[in-house]
Amino acid sequence: MLLITNLQKIFATEEVETTALNGIDLTINDGEFVAIMGPSGCGKSTLLNIIGLLDNPSSGSYNFYGSDVEKMSERQRAQLRKGNVGFVFQSFNLIDELTVFENVELPLLYLKEPIKQRNEMVEATLKRMNMMHRRNHFPQQLSGGQQQRVAIARAVVAKPKLILADEPTGNLDSANGKDVMNLLQELNEEGTTIAMVTHSPYDASYAHRTVNLFDGKIVTENFHV
Ligand code: ADP
Ligand code: MG
Repeated sequence: MLLITNLQKIFATEEVETTALNGIDLTINDGEFVAIMGPSGCGKSTLLNIIGLLDNPSSGSYNFYGSDVEKMSERQRAQLRKGNVGFVFQSFNLIDELTVFENVELPLLYLKEPIKQRNEMVEATLKRMNMMHRRNHFPQQLSGGQQQRVAIARAVVAKPKLILADEPTGNLDSANGKDVMNLLQELNEEGTTIAMVTHSPYDASYAHRTVNLFDGKIVTENFHV
């Protein structure tokens, strides 16, 4: 379970201070699928990055499956993130110099999985994403829909308990967007917790709950029936 209490995030440069999150209280239960919506600049990505241990809050508390992470160093957070959190982004964020296989293998290299297990896990995940036939291709040789399927393969290959998706269908046409949403739904039904930022009410309808942000605050929450 993820437990966020009175969380604030302030970005300060020499000229300006931006309060990106201003008192967020949010609990995400194990196995839940939560959509995060709101206008551009309201703090959605900042919240997702903190939930995923990529960034730390300025104040408030965050308990990540039993660990108080707001007190942790960057290195400790990175350690906890490994194997526990998978990220999917709007712009896919694959590494252009690596093949499909190598991109998906990366999280397993960080986890120091032995080569035999790595090969098995990458192959099983690529098969599931219907991307085995592209294993030796480079990202730029793939369509957007294929790149996002590879990115999802990379996010799930280490079987994380939490997947964070930041506008995962934002660069896809509706057919590929639907494919991605169906994949996320399947992963959720198998027990993976998902938090997803989206602008699409259709995509949000896949979630159990929508959290609406405005100016760094949660303004409304709707539970889907
Ligand atoms: P959203 O994802 O909802 O569009 P963000 O979380 O990206 O919004 O940004 C929230 C606010 O924080 C914006 O005003 C943005 O400019 C600011 N912000 C985000 N990241 C940084 C950063 N690394 N440095 C300074 N300001 C930032
Ligand atoms: Mg954003």
